[in-house]
Amino acid sequence: MRHVFFIAGLGTLLCASTANAMPPVADTVFTNGFIYTVDAKNSVAQAVAIKNGKILYVGSSAEATRYISPHTQKIDLHGNMLMPGLVDGHMHPLRGGERLVLCSLQYLPLTKQEFSDRIKACLVDPAVPKRKNWLLVTSWFQEAMRPKDTILDKTILDKIDNKNPIVVYSSFGHSALLNTPALEAAHITASTKSEPGGEIIHDAKGQPTGLLEDTALNLIFAAQPAASDEQKVAAARAVLTVLRKQGVTSFLDARAAEVDIKAFSVLQQNGELTARAHFAPLITPEMGQDAKKSVDYVKGLSTRYDQGSITQQPTITVRHAKMYMDGVISAPGLTGILTLPYRINKGTVEHPDWQPGSSTGPAPYFPVPVLSKLLQGLVQAGIDPHMHADGDGAVRIALDAVEVTRKALPKSDFRPGLAHDELVAQADLPRFRQLGAIPVMSFQWGKRAPDTTGQTADALGEDRSNAMEPAYQLEKAGARIAYGSDWPVDPLNEWFALQVGITRQNAPDVEPQYRARLGDMPGLSRASVLRAITMNSAYELRQDSVTGSVEQGKIADLIILDRNITTIPVNEIGKTTVLMTMVGGKVVYSSGEFVPKTP
Ligand SMILES: [Zn+2]
Repeated sequence: MRHVFFIAGLGTLLCASTANAMPPVADTVFTNGFIYTVDAKNSVAQAVAIKNGKILYVGSSAEATRYISPHTQKIDLHGNMLMPGLVDGHMHPLRGGERLVLCSLQYLPLTKQEFSDRIKACLVDPAVPKRKNWLLVTSWFQEAMRPKDTILDKTILDKIDNKNPIVVYSSFGHSALLNTPALEAAHITASTKSEPGGEIIHDAKGQPTGLLEDTALNLIFAAQPAASDEQKVAAARAVLTVLRKQGVTSFLDARAAEVDIKAFSVLQQNGELTARAHFAPLITPEMGQDAKKSVDYVKGLSTRYDQGSITQQPTITVRHAKMYMDGVISAPGLTGILTLPYRINKGTVEHPDWQPGSSTGPAPYFPVPVLSKLLQGLVQAGIDPHMHADGDGAVRIALDAVEVTRKALPKSDFRPGLAHDELVAQADLPRFRQLGAIPVMSFQWGKRAPDTTGQTADALGEDRSNAMEPAYQLEKAGARIAYGSDWPVDPLNEWFALQVGITRQNAPDVEPQYRARLGDMPGLSRASVLRAITMNSAYELRQDSVTGSVEQGKIADLIILDRNITTIPVNEIGKTTVLMTMVGGKVVYSSGEFVPKTP
């Protein structure tokens, strides 16, 4: 009755009964597709209708015709797969963006000579942007240098240029190599100490070799000229181009500085933001000693930049904080925190005898009492903690602090993310479910590669290196597994990552020693990896009620694929191409096959 009154009040000629019976008219209807919904049952539908950026209907192509009027765009999918847009729950977009524009070593396994030649070429290439007189080099695959066990120092860079600073960043982001002018600019001498959680490598005479690890990198970050605001915005724009093409419709920047948030905010204001952008400002171990100050810092950024609840149009969200629990368990870093010691060679090079040493890695970056206090402050401020935890010791520290926080704040609904979890102790597997902690896994690491075999396997031992990347065990123990590419640690290829998540195997064309599976732990199912990169990551980012699946009432973040990844041979998933990306009902990318217009 209220409805009748309302319509009469507007003076329309429509009679109430017609208004009630007529289904709403869709802006766009996709029919004849393989719509993989990622709803609770992983249902498959044929059609989806969209109105005002939201999903009006999901079901059969025949039923969908009810929503079609002469003004509706009808797109015949010809059987193509359509699924929810990808949600990347952990990446470093602007670091990736800078790699798209700065001098890059392209993650290649290089010899010393090749390393040197490539940097020399960048130095004279006018197309490679410099920061004042500094040359910054990215994507150095330090672990894959040839021959095996090659360790570099500043002399290789000094031979290229000993007047102007050169800094080479490893692709893992946990180490950097500096030449002498860069060491001088960062005021690093024999007596300089790193803050906790890092190391300045010294030679036998006590002089810095040019290699910095983990938090010691802060010394060079502080010294090197920053990108200009324009350079940052340009890098953010380059990032979005790449994400659209991969089908990424939401992401978490897992270590956001204010300038990063600002760059994406500029694009948001220009109407150029084509993915839902979430940011986790970094709380360093040093800052974290003062919980209140740290919380105020994140809250301040949230107040300035967060745009509130998720809408059809992509916005900026600042509702996470990032903390590093450790470094990486891969050699030569071995900066991950373990529950049991790394192994050391007690024999000779010819006759190795690997035995447990005395080191379980660095001292905790955040001791449990410090972390617990910090987490409680963050949770009370409505901020979800996002913790890098690579070794099983670091994972345990994070879980212990989450447990303390749950007990202290039993009514708080917080969603702690534990990123990477390359090793998890058996006893800690069920704790993820019990504590509502979300493992944010980077599936592509679960394969044989220079960082999981060789020195790394020697230092971890066979059992632990076979148990790396325990997504399967975590899922079995009831954890809700989310996904984060960690780009640009690896080149961005979300589809290859999903493939490795299923196969635990490298690409068929890699060097022979990397072709076998990694250990005998099963991989995840196709349904599980697809859920991880959609619904579960949406859950991590608190947008699972509005995105992450193709369901009526949700926002239309959708992608169309060139192949059906639920049925093709598993080794072809990595070659998937996205044909169209839609965010909030708006087409932000099309390869040309499907070109719906935005109403
Ligand atoms: Zn990361």
